[in-house]
Amino acid sequence: MKRRVYIETYGCQMNEHDTERMLRLLEGISYSETKEPRDADFILINTCSVREKPEHKVYSALGRFKRLKEENGVIIGVAGCVAQQEGERLLDRIPYLDMVIGTQAIPMLPQLLQAIEVSGKRVCETSFGKNGKYLGAILAQKPLDKIKSYVTIMQGCDHFCSFCIVPYVRGREQSRPSREIIEEVTHLAGMGLKEICLLGQNVNGYGKGFEEEISFSELLKRVNAIAGIERIRFTTSHPRDLSEGLIRVYSSLSKVCEHIHLPFQSGSNKILKAMHRGYTRELYLEKIDRLRETCPSIAVTADVIVGFPGEEEEDFSETLDLIEKVRFDDLFSFKYSARKGTRAAEFEDRVEEKVKQNRLSILQEIQREITLQKNQALVGSVEEILVEGPSKQSDRDVTGRTRSNKIVNGEGDIKSLAGKLAPVRIIKAFPHSVRGEILDRNKIESQVTDTIYVAMP
Ligand code: SAM
Ligand code: SF4
Repeated sequence: MKRRVYIETYGCQMNEHDTERMLRLLEGISYSETKEPRDADFILINTCSVREKPEHKVYSALGRFKRLKEENGVIIGVAGCVAQQEGERLLDRIPYLDMVIGTQAIPMLPQLLQAIEVSGKRVCETSFGKNGKYLGAILAQKPLDKIKSYVTIMQGCDHFCSFCIVPYVRGREQSRPSREIIEEVTHLAGMGLKEICLLGQNVNGYGKGFEEEISFSELLKRVNAIAGIERIRFTTSHPRDLSEGLIRVYSSLSKVCEHIHLPFQSGSNKILKAMHRGYTRELYLEKIDRLRETCPSIAVTADVIVGFPGEEEEDFSETLDLIEKVRFDDLFSFKYSARKGTRAAEFEDRVEEKVKQNRLSILQEIQREITLQKNQALVGSVEEILVEGPSKQSDRDVTGRTRSNKIVNGEGDIKSLAGKLAPVRIIKAFPHSVRGEILDRNKIESQVTDTIYVAMP
């Protein structure tokens, strides 16, 4: 019997990717996806607990679905980091919840769901390490209606930054065998996908403590050799583990896109130490210099936290100073939020909420201006975009990203352009995107600068 699942996803790319894997697993037991919770036989909320705000969303989402449970008996589950952290407590707290499934229990989803369907009993599975297959991909059997995809290369994290819940809810760092990764990317290329993003909390640490002797740069080299894949991205990099070998891939591997996401979290050495980040602002700035020497067109984005315990005005000024020095293409900025179980949650000298909010606003205003200036600097240049789909603003427009990960919208026929690499002349800049004019590749080959089509090694 055909049934339908509705999944609501909060949080990072890791969660988005887990949702995709769960959908594929559920397809195997005759579930198809619906975007309408009212039509679903199974509602799953894939949660995030990295900060307080997304964590609270799970409870309001559950509140919304209570009525549906009463009306049609829909099965309701919670997955992801909140599920991992709260476990049985969630079942106790929410009487109409049927399933709690932890971050490493994803391969067990079909059997857990079938057990509920048969017995009506509530289930909670949050054990770590029982599922050797956690990282294994579920390969799609039919062509995906997609142009790009994430590929998990590792799970968990060993860094234990003092503010971060990830090592507790995702477990310790564990790399996935390169053979499996290559198999999955080759499979995706065979289905017509053009871009892949290698995913892990700390991709630079790939291969550490692994029986297979392989570094992340070596893995990239192997992925670069797969025919059909045109672009390679990866996230997230950690400044401490960003090696010279990895910096050099930006000039030696033609498919690696000119973009790095390199969170710095704070510009103050005192705060970096309290965060247990393992680097100084000087080291961070040195790595940025090396990246720009190796690849002058590289776009740099990062994460930053304001209001970490003990952050004084001068520490915050150092964060602003680092932002002005680096001139990031974009920044993801967060107010510190204490996470139960992490070391920083025990720290005293908390920063007042209104001070945090004020610092966040100042920082975001500065970054907004830098991002706009960076986008304005592109006007007049020709960039290559991978066309991803119709634009949200107008059905006459298509949308895509440059190799440096800038969003470009421009007039074009989506039927003929979807999944294609197209040269685009940038004509206008906005705070979050740019507008471009799609060019005829044959007519412009001679005009294209080598910063756009990266020189082959
Ligand atoms: N592994 C990545 C790294 O080391 O940068 C990022 C992991 S985390 C899911 C994404 C971002 O959330 C972090 O870079 C950090 O800026 C932010 N974050 C994590 N814990 C936080 C907390 N307790 N309060 C505020 N922001 C937090
Ligand atoms: Fe969290 Fe730090 Fe690990 Fe990133 S490196 S996931 S911030 S503990």
